[in-house]
Amino acid sequence: MRTTFLPFSSPSISEEEIAAVGDVLRSGWITTGPNCGAFETEFAAYCGAADAIAVSSATGGMHCVLQALEIGPGDEVITPSMTWVSTANLICLLGATPIFADVDRETLMVTRETIEPLITEKTKAFIPVHYAGAAADMDPIRALAAERNIALIEDAAHAAGTEYKGERIGKKGTCIFSFHPIKNMTTGEGGMVCSDDPELLARVKSLKFHGLGVDAFDRQTQGRTPQAQVIHPGYKYNLTDISAVLGRGQLARLNGFNQRRAELAMLYREKLADTPEVLPLGIPDYQHLHAWHLFIVRLDIYKAGMERDAFMAALKEQNIGTGLHFRAVHLQKYYTETFGCHPGILPETEWNSDRICSLPLCPSMQDSDVDDVVAAIKTVLKKG
Ligand SMILES: *Cc1c(COP(=O)(O)O)cnc(C)c1O
Repeated sequence: MRTTFLPFSSPSISEEEIAAVGDVLRSGWITTGPNCGAFETEFAAYCGAADAIAVSSATGGMHCVLQALEIGPGDEVITPSMTWVSTANLICLLGATPIFADVDRETLMVTRETIEPLITEKTKAFIPVHYAGAAADMDPIRALAAERNIALIEDAAHAAGTEYKGERIGKKGTCIFSFHPIKNMTTGEGGMVCSDDPELLARVKSLKFHGLGVDAFDRQTQGRTPQAQVIHPGYKYNLTDISAVLGRGQLARLNGFNQRRAELAMLYREKLADTPEVLPLGIPDYQHLHAWHLFIVRLDIYKAGMERDAFMAALKEQNIGTGLHFRAVHLQKYYTETFGCHPGILPETEWNSDRICSLPLCPSMQDSDVDDVVAAIKTVLKKG
């Protein structure tokens, strides 16, 4: 057994990044400013996006996008239940209704087939998730959105560096990335909204900073009136330059991070091939480049003779950290009580929600760490 705890994830921060943060702290400009501007330009260029807006979290970015689309009371938004709770929460906070779509059992992603039957005249948007770093099958989903004239927002929190049919996620449509510490690159907390719709992006830019026409740095450098006018009431979701400079360093290393994640994921797949109690997610068969944000397995609770929560607790006893991405949203207290969601309505989501477990995966891991995780799994399953 390992003598030290292996966390499920830990960020890779270089000495250069630490020094760059120090330089910003000494520079006299620590909030949104030149580093945010450069980070937006560099991130947009990396994705091939027309433009990008840095925000203080993906959740803040999603809030601005939903608001910019004027989603509110009487509207329905189709989202997977297999996602982070922030999406459904925001839909509710805006007074709209989340409509939960089931996912493909093997990839945990919504498809045209799971979304289409849920469309009504109230449907204002769908929010597919590029799950675990794989790409959702966007061609059929984009076609459906275009046919029905419904907005499409891609939750790209797991998908920094993911490609779909030769194009990076972020190049097309409206995509929201997260830089939370467990994501493929981090700014501590932070996010980015990319969009090929300049009007939408202009609204997001204003909404992320009080609904003003310009932000504080624009005012200082461009000598506009010191008190800009509110165009529409907005939020306070700007990213700081302290965070942005870290993001610039991380972005420059993102492809290397993702390559290492892919190597570790392939090692897991190879070393778990003879352990039928744990079944990795399926890899989509359409052309894509996987960013390997997460390495998720599903526990066969009958073969293993234990429930997933007990499996995670037993791995912790073996000094192996794990994660749960995610517990189905529709079966959480507020959603069952408010919308009458009950077990049985989303069979594939629920089947996975009871069985998924994310194994440790981050670029700083050694091959021997994968060996330790696999050995611990075999011990827990009494195969060691
Ligand atoms: C992490 C995550 C978010 C939220 O990102 P924040 O930057 O923490 O707000 C949204 N959706 C998914 C699928 C995520 O994994």
